[in-house]
Amino acid sequence: IWGQACIKLEQSVGPNNFNHWIKPLRLTALDEGVARFASPTRFISDWVSRHFADDIMGELSRHGQQVERLRFEVIPQEAVQPGASGGKNASRPAAVARELNSTGKAELGAPLDPRFTFGNFVVGKPNELAHAAARRVSEGGPVGFNPLFLYGGVGLGKTHLMHAIAHDYQQRDPSARVLYLSAEQFMYRFVQALRESTIMDFKGMFRNVNMLMVDDVQFIAGKDSTQEEFFHTFNALVDQGKQIVISADRTPAEIKGLEERIKSRLSCGLIVDLHPTTYELRLGILQSKTEAFRQQQPDLQIGNGVLEFLANRITTNVRVLEGALQRLFAHASLLRREITLEVAQECLTDILRTNDRKISIDDIQRKVAEHYNIRLADMMGPKRARNVARPRQIAMYLSKQLTNRSLPEIGRRFGGRDHTTIMHGVRKIEELAGEDLGLAEDIALLRRQLEA
Ligand code: ADP
Ligand code: MG
Repeated sequence: IWGQACIKLEQSVGPNNFNHWIKPLRLTALDEGVARFASPTRFISDWVSRHFADDIMGELSRHGQQVERLRFEVIPQEAVQPGASGGKNASRPAAVARELNSTGKAELGAPLDPRFTFGNFVVGKPNELAHAAARRVSEGGPVGFNPLFLYGGVGLGKTHLMHAIAHDYQQRDPSARVLYLSAEQFMYRFVQALRESTIMDFKGMFRNVNMLMVDDVQFIAGKDSTQEEFFHTFNALVDQGKQIVISADRTPAEIKGLEERIKSRLSCGLIVDLHPTTYELRLGILQSKTEAFRQQQPDLQIGNGVLEFLANRITTNVRVLEGALQRLFAHASLLRREITLEVAQECLTDILRTNDRKISIDDIQRKVAEHYNIRLADMMGPKRARNVARPRQIAMYLSKQLTNRSLPEIGRRFGGRDHTTIMHGVRKIEELAGEDLGLAEDIALLRRQLEA
């Protein structure tokens, strides 16, 4: 019956897919609702279970076999095809057996979080551009930019947006092959393919997707052979007109240890950043999560001003904000009482305390000196050479922006300078950053790193 099923499958999934993914499989057993297959590689079985499991189960069922799950055993090529010259693997029995549930999901790419949808994403000024670009990509069709490169600090919604794109895209076209994974997983898969000599399958698999999404790409910086493979994968897909979505914690140009040719490729499409959240956005997110929770727990009582208080006090990242809210909800449903401002304060002391951690002038001076490769002592010292004076002014500017120290206080910390000197420095940088995009980006980067 496998032969008959194959004829049908070839029609339903198309000859290319069939030849590449299904044909190499051999049905070895069929009993108690489980169909067992021998597969020459793990990649093939992963791919099949992710994309064609339903087709296969459907087809077998149509032939009178009630199949509820597929099970794959990886048997190296030589062993699968008797008669082929027996390599050294031929004597090695089944290497890996993997059981898959009837949804056919295996961890080839990373699983998608069902909560990370566009519907659950609150749009505000800091993320509206990123959101619009993500929406555009999720609609499919010619997008006009490739890749979409999303960047921003921790917990600002990069991963959420990527999953949302994948959900939407897949929903619009269920047969589309969307592959989402982190750069770390990409590396892991690559190394595994090298080790198991399945590099051709690895390449085949990555070059066969309709959309590739790689999260936190900064991870591959400094990892030479992974970068190399990533570069080729990237190019192959772009050449085929397949959409790519990448995220990172900074712009391509700012990723140290990333090859120039990759930086320039990554910069070819649309680069959008997720800005740090504003009070309004944080409040919006809190309100939306509270509404969602109230659907399950209608008697949830949150006192006046509690959400505003959280939006005000927890400013670093949305993940922490969500964690705080979750804790309050848990508290509310256990104790069945209203969450007042006092309860919230008491329940969240630890989170509130770490969030109050202030950026110090010390931190700023150290970070800026390191960034421009000058000595920390030069921050306080008298040198007036431009290569020292400019970073010093940037540090003054950031001290004014990121701490609540007065100008005279800042002056004291910069080697006893007068407050007018600080004022002059701050103005100078404001002025320059208005004209010099490179400087503005440098400052934005420093700021993100200090606030992280
Ligand atoms: P990143 O990948 O940028 O570090 P994530 O996408 O993992 O951040 O987001 C962290 C958490 O914050 C997730 O639970 C996500 O759902 C939530 N989140 C971030 N931004 C928003 C937003 N605008 N609306 C709703 N939830 C958000
Ligand atoms: Mg992320």
